[in-house]
Amino acid sequence: MPPRTALLALLALGCHSRVPVATAAAPEEIPALLDAAAADDELAWQRLTHLCDDIGHRITGSDTLTQAIEWSVSELEQDGFDSVTAEPVQAEGWVRGHERVSVLPDNRLLNVLALGNSAGTPDGPIDVDVVVVTSFDELTALGDSVAGKAVLFNVPFTTYGETVAYRVAGPRLAAEQGAVVALVRSIAPVSLNTPHTGVTNFDETPPIPAVALTLEDAEWMHRRQRDGVAVRIRVDLGAHSIGTVETANVVAEKRGVEFPEQVVVVGCHLDSWDVGQGAQDDGAGCLLAWEAARDVISLGPSKRTLRLVLYTNEESGLAGGSAYPGAHPSDRHVAAVESDTGAGPATGFRVHAVDSTSGDTDPERAARFIARLTDSDFTARENYAGSDISPLVKTGTIGFGVDHDTTNYWPIHHTRADTLEKIDRQVLQDNVRLTAGLLMWLLNTDDEQLE
Ligand SMILES: [Zn+2]
Repeated sequence: MPPRTALLALLALGCHSRVPVATAAAPEEIPALLDAAAADDELAWQRLTHLCDDIGHRITGSDTLTQAIEWSVSELEQDGFDSVTAEPVQAEGWVRGHERVSVLPDNRLLNVLALGNSAGTPDGPIDVDVVVVTSFDELTALGDSVAGKAVLFNVPFTTYGETVAYRVAGPRLAAEQGAVVALVRSIAPVSLNTPHTGVTNFDETPPIPAVALTLEDAEWMHRRQRDGVAVRIRVDLGAHSIGTVETANVVAEKRGVEFPEQVVVVGCHLDSWDVGQGAQDDGAGCLLAWEAARDVISLGPSKRTLRLVLYTNEESGLAGGSAYPGAHPSDRHVAAVESDTGAGPATGFRVHAVDSTSGDTDPERAARFIARLTDSDFTARENYAGSDISPLVKTGTIGFGVDHDTTNYWPIHHTRADTLEKIDRQVLQDNVRLTAGLLMWLLNTDDEQLE
């Protein structure tokens, strides 16, 4: 298609593409073309604003997540992809309901958020004594003396990956020792009395009420215990499971002209927790991936196929990420890129390689990619790339995580404060440009560079 016809076709589609080039750009032109494409962020910013302010937070099973899925399909259909599909995914739904946790005897209310998969108190509020532990070993040592009590895990934040184990597994382990309530110090480095929700997994153990406390309240309870003063609380929760729900991954594809069977995925998760607006987690990541894909398409055909995936149910079960490889069994996924660590300035990429036979991380393969990226003027280090793409990475696909500065991310992650005004528009634009550059490299580099 000659350039003018392509432009008219794009205009007819209502596409806001800035650089309507119909043939592949010469390699030396690519940086300037990407700069020009990324410089126009009006549509991306409008879309992020719509997602946050008009749709709002988007937990699995909610009408707002369905709305976000339907809206993104209709928007993507105007963006010049060859196909846009909502791929059905089944996931487990959970509803927060009311939540009141207070300190007895004066009934002083605490600022809390129940954890995803928490049980409620359907027979009315329960009153329990609190036992504070600072490690799994301490809990184990207490044996069944915690039966009938509330166990509080007051574990200071080191790294997210390390500390989050207390939120994910702590309530189940407490329940297995007979505790009737689990309290978890919010997984965050600092706090302005801010509770952070997140998922907890009970597996086959019957769930108990599980609640995130603020750092302030966790420390206060711990000080009371050290001072020999008993803490007794009243827990009143409406949390409950809503069983299996239908949701979807949104998949938009631009086919490659030379190796269409080779697929490069760029992704994020469209769902969020049910507080705040899901702006940093992961609305901004979605607009980053989406806009980077749009910029790449605007530069004309690529050798390989580009696939944008807005995953569902990352927060409360990873059903979207887990379902994706099975929905595409015959595709050869040569690389997967994800943005899910906020909206801070990104300096480069985290590279994650897994040996698909042993399931172990493969640092040598990651190092080879880091060297190639460095040769192409990117910055990269070895680390976990992202949870939505992790099922693909386990099959041997090389994974890249956009490596944001997370200084301002963990303090608001999974809180009511995850709202649009925290996103810096210029930083988002810079991150889009960086990611579009990586996608261009992955889509067009020589085959041996991707081994
Ligand atoms: Zn996330």
